[in-house]
Amino acid sequence: MIVDDVFDKMNKQLEGISKGEVRAANLEVFPRLVGALHSHASSCARCGELYEKSNLYVDDIVAVLRGSKEKRKDFEEAVNEALAHLHHEHKALPKGKILSTSVMAGMLTGLGVAVLAGYIISGDLMGYGALGWLIGMISGWTVGKVRERNLKKQNRLY
Ligand SMILES: [Zn+2]
Repeated sequence: MIVDDVFDKMNKQLEGISKGEVRAANLEVFPRLVGALHSHASSCARCGELYEKSNLYVDDIVAVLRGSKEKRKDFEEAVNEALAHLHHEHKALPKGKILSTSVMAGMLTGLGVAVLAGYIISGDLMGYGALGWLIGMISGWTVGKVRERNLKKQNRLY
């Protein structure tokens, strides 16, 4: 499978490079991104182009991490371009993105609603806030999971 190949190729080069660096460069989603481009490449010319381009980075990922600021910026732009294309043209999204956004939105909404409710009924704001935050987080997580599962069924999650 293409995603595993990309992982292998990158892992071989990434010895000696810390997990923090990998995370900072957003490399966790990258192999799946390449896989998604590849799966659309046969029917979409733009995906084909983006796939070819991203493969250049796969082959020399160390140059991206340890290279010049410019090289790093090129890489980030290529990644963003691919993410945007997959989103707009193929309605596909990376795994985890929806979940984290949904959890964050749930927490903030829960916190806001609970603090407001606590304020209106002159309750314990901290207590209400904590409870609202928790409920919001759980709701957000549930909503995010359901949405991701639906996307996955439609082959729109990578
Ligand atoms: Zn495409």
